Amino acid sequence: MPADKGGSRALLRALRAVMAGAGDGQQRLDQVVRLVANNMVAEVCSIYLKRDERTLELCATKGLRQDAVHSARLRVGQGLVGRIAERAEPFVTDDAQTAPGFRYLPETGEEIYHSFVGVPIQRLGEVMGVLVVQNETRRHYTEDEVEALEIVAMVISEMTEAGAFLGSGGLATGPGRRVGPVVFEGTAACDGVAEGVVHLHEPRLVVFDPIADDVDTERERLAEAMEAMRVDVDRLVEGNGLGGSGEHREIFEAYRMFAYDKGWRRRLNEAIDSGLAAEVAVEKVQSDARARMERVADPYLRERLHDLDDLAHRLLRHLVGGDDPQTAELPHNAVLIARNIGPGELMDHAGKIVALVLEEGSLTSHATIVARALALPMVVQAERITRDANPGDRIVVDGNIARVDLRPEGSILDAFREKVALAEQAREIYRTLRDKPATTPDGVTVRLKMNAGVLADLPSINASGAEGVGLYRTELQFMIRRNLPGREAQARVYSRVLDAAGGREVMFRTLDIGSDKILPYMRREKEPNPALGWRAIRVGLDRPKLFRMQIQSLVRGAKGRPLSIMFPMAAEADEYREARGMVEGEVARLAAMGHPRPESLKIGFMLETPSMVFADDRLFEETDFVSVGGNDLMQFFFAADRENERVRKRYDMLNFSFLRMLHQIVERCERLGTPLSFCGEAAGHPLEALVLAAIGFRELSMRPAAIGPVKRALLAADLGEARDAMERADRAGATSARAGLRAWAESRGLPV
Ligand code: PEP
Ligand code: MG
Repeated sequence: MPADKGGSRALLRALRAVMAGAGDGQQRLDQVVRLVANNMVAEVCSIYLKRDERTLELCATKGLRQDAVHSARLRVGQGLVGRIAERAEPFVTDDAQTAPGFRYLPETGEEIYHSFVGVPIQRLGEVMGVLVVQNETRRHYTEDEVEALEIVAMVISEMTEAGAFLGSGGLATGPGRRVGPVVFEGTAACDGVAEGVVHLHEPRLVVFDPIADDVDTERERLAEAMEAMRVDVDRLVEGNGLGGSGEHREIFEAYRMFAYDKGWRRRLNEAIDSGLAAEVAVEKVQSDARARMERVADPYLRERLHDLDDLAHRLLRHLVGGDDPQTAELPHNAVLIARNIGPGELMDHAGKIVALVLEEGSLTSHATIVARALALPMVVQAERITRDANPGDRIVVDGNIARVDLRPEGSILDAFREKVALAEQAREIYRTLRDKPATTPDGVTVRLKMNAGVLADLPSINASGAEGVGLYRTELQFMIRRNLPGREAQARVYSRVLDAAGGREVMFRTLDIGSDKILPYMRREKEPNPALGWRAIRVGLDRPKLFRMQIQSLVRGAKGRPLSIMFPMAAEADEYREARGMVEGEVARLAAMGHPRPESLKIGFMLETPSMVFADDRLFEETDFVSVGGNDLMQFFFAADRENERVRKRYDMLNFSFLRMLHQIVERCERLGTPLSFCGEAAGHPLEALVLAAIGFRELSMRPAAIGPVKRALLAADLGEARDAMERADRAGATSARAGLRAWAESRGLPV
């Protein structure tokens, strides 16, 4: 192929003529391979497109056997072609037969060709197929030729997306795209159920003319679109109406930097110079960036990839002229579908969507944290959903069982609606219980508090009827930002939390970072076993500056109001004592500087390691309270990583060994008069909550949405009977109390 720009532009123009011309999908595909083969003076040119996520199909060829078209298939990852699709990068060799991984398809007759160059056909990082050129002789393909072939592949991907190859003989649907009902089994990130219609976070844009007529015009279009995009981004940062409230300012500042990046602009212009329309140039540069960055393991850099994706989409929207999804009218029951989403963007959708489904995402991502704060049903790792879903499609999301039904059939929809109706009835009941104390029929009252961590949680204090905040995870505020908040910013947040609590106690937990809680802007230590590593109070004690700054912010934010502080993951008494000493020191120092002293100061620790269960009585006398962090205590008790899907659910919290340990904690706290609470996830599950109450816990802290169901269960359950049921199961030799308790609860018709 002529590597000079003029020559490759002539080929692109010829491709455009194919796209605009008559003929069905297959005829167009055949014309394309002929054109490319002629231009590259190659004996073979073939197009493989994805039939489904794992299979590539030979869809057109010049040079290989025609009867192999639509019958020769290979798996992604298999052979040279499969490898190109898997890695999304070109592959060149002048001796295909000896190249590692080479595997020829005998039905195509390709064994006689030595030289091979293949490039992915991809759009915005999504591989749709592979374009291959082969020569019989050993021929060296130059870098410029490979680059030119990539440009051709870009145009083919746009043609594919625009439907140029659909129709008789060609493709039945877009490559690998499913039609009709599709079920996705993802990972449950936030429970709850919702029905709605698909709203694509990044609408699929179709470019009908992927080729530049005139390079100068395209450059101008790009310049105008970039300008418009920057105005957008500036507005976002200034917070004028697009959601950039003060809280998110830092997030958007970093984002603005990318919008003004000169390297990005240069690469875009270079792609235009090679003959692509401005839209396709944006997609090409973005595909390249994705391919590069997806190989990066660093979570901070991967978050940046998300910024780049988002900017590329904004730029595309300006070029194509679509609505800005940030301001576009959303249907009233929109279910947001995205490859991934940042915490700030999700916050902008608060109150406008009923559920969220991500193709990527994880249980600990910032978006997940925000979704939980907003009580949005959420499923992550719903593979390929952005590809299969169309705007306006009906969709149901069940965050309890991690299932998403796209375009569900009537019977599925009916069953689902029944479930939603039941959930709504239950919510109505919870509303009526809101102001009642959780007192069991045998007269035990359990205080129910809520866990919180971002400002979006605050309205739940009143809505849920929580008697306070039993765990305020301060690190979440640090995690959803792109830089470390300063003393003032922190103090403002803590002050607002106390304002919202309206006099109810808030237990602020000092920064719990490390392991599953990563601050994107802090350099991470490479640790072989982060859950057992340098985390939580260990970081606080070793980095006293950060710790002190937080204590100062808490004292300032309290403005003289009562303050409760607890330390995460203290594993021995001295760690607690040292941290306590630092807190008292800071309070005294600030008081000497004229800041008001908190009206009362309580300092406690989270009991999260078995070592603390066996600490000396004195520790329990010294501390103002103990809060059991069941999530970590479980993981250390059973030596089962809470982040590891494989082992996470293997052990039951109602295992009698674990319950015996909890019982010991209760007895000791009762004997020594130490206030005790439990704030792990289990407190929010009605059956577990009953057990905790039966063992003697009188204060539980949980997700706000769990308070209603737990209160309802406690109001109906006789704890003496629950203890009897547990004892019976224990005597009968059961490992866990669960089955026995469940049978008892069912016999009593308890809502667990
Ligand atoms: C816990 O470990 O139980 C806990 C409440 O803290 P986190 O989940 O934030 O580690
Ligand atoms: Mg913990």
